[in-house]
Amino acid sequence: MACQVKKITVLGSTGSIGVSTLDVVARHPDQFQIFALTANGNVEVMVQQVRALSPRYAVMSDEHAAAQLRERLKDIGSSTEVLGGEAALAQVAEHTDVDYVMAAIVGAAGLLPTLAAVRAGKRILLANKEALVMCGGLFMEAVQQSGAELLPIDSEHNAIYQCLPAKHRQGLASIGVRKLILTASGGPFRDKALAEFEHITPQQACAHPNWSMGQKISVDSATMMNKGLELIEACWLFNCSHDQVDVLVHRQSVIHSMVEYTDGSVLAQMGNPDMRIPIAYGLSWPQRIDSGVSSLNLAEIAQLDFEPLDHARFPCLSLAASAIAAGGTVPVALNAANEVAVAAFLEERLSYTGIYRLVDRVLQQYQQQAATSVELVMAEDQRARQMANSLL
Ligand code: NAD
Ligand code: MG
Repeated sequence: MACQVKKITVLGSTGSIGVSTLDVVARHPDQFQIFALTANGNVEVMVQQVRALSPRYAVMSDEHAAAQLRERLKDIGSSTEVLGGEAALAQVAEHTDVDYVMAAIVGAAGLLPTLAAVRAGKRILLANKEALVMCGGLFMEAVQQSGAELLPIDSEHNAIYQCLPAKHRQGLASIGVRKLILTASGGPFRDKALAEFEHITPQQACAHPNWSMGQKISVDSATMMNKGLELIEACWLFNCSHDQVDVLVHRQSVIHSMVEYTDGSVLAQMGNPDMRIPIAYGLSWPQRIDSGVSSLNLAEIAQLDFEPLDHARFPCLSLAASAIAAGGTVPVALNAANEVAVAAFLEERLSYTGIYRLVDRVLQQYQQQAATSVELVMAEDQRARQMANSLL
């Protein structure tokens, strides 16, 4: 079958998802070509990636890093053009020559470039869940208007997507779905004594038992704010209410999520915990390609465990559920306060349990607005960050 080579922009190419994306792409040079790579400040990794892939553009959102990269690439005689600054991220995401955009910047910084790709009607491989948490209504409206193809890369949402029929955006009732079940590994502290929580270090929080990920999402997985963000993400992606989404603790991270239908059937997607599976799915949909991930050996795993979530241990999930129930810009404040809290925890300016307390305090004080425009959402993001910083 003849297929046109797809040109790809990878937003956040130096991160965990970015590197996994390049790994899958490199396995299929006949199908995919890298058009642009972007990162914040990691010049070393960017130089290596440009050497290996010779993209048309390499973008560093940090101008100082862009100048450094330009020098380094000149030394090695690279023909890749270096761009600097935040606006350049959107420029390479919406470029007319681009077919697919991997949205793998972490946090609110990913929203504008991802939206630029949506508005330009690209295929979006969405890892940057914070974009949907902040701006889900406007984001999904923009997808409808531009005809962009949105493929969820977060493993849970990718699993649900795989277990749903194509017409699921019409609403879950019309396709006979009773509920969605997000699985959660429980992270590194699922068995830790609650009394020890106050002394948890960043290093302990970043040591996830099943997945290797960037620092921010690792901390979010430890507090289960990640599952809260994913709950909100699921509501927007699958056009449902938060009470149609259950969370189930499943330690082995083999079942990535499930869909329960009205007749009692439950469909699950399984696989080894490796993000190259959802990435390959997003790249090849509606076909399938090799992701580089080995076969799932269920005989070796032998046992799959399930248990209900302990809300006393993981109070952040309820904060996220209340935020999406309250609606408007409350999820913007939740996300912004959490980003400030996680950064402070990683810098050892806030304790682990302080993360929940700070987000909770911000939400108690926050006066919500209707999320009427992206500009307003960005302004509310800044306002909530200021509130969080002054409470710190
Ligand atoms: P990471 O920290 O490893 O990488 C983040 C990338 O974003 C880097 O390339 C970095 O240079 C870039 N970046 C950071 N701040 C930026 C800024 N201000 N401007 C421009 N670029 C910036 O993160 P990750 O683990 O790869 O996660 C990326 C996104 O994917 C997150 O939203 C995360 O929630 C989501 N996600 C990750 C995983 C995973 O397994 N890592 C799984 C599901 C979803
Ligand atoms: Mg996930």
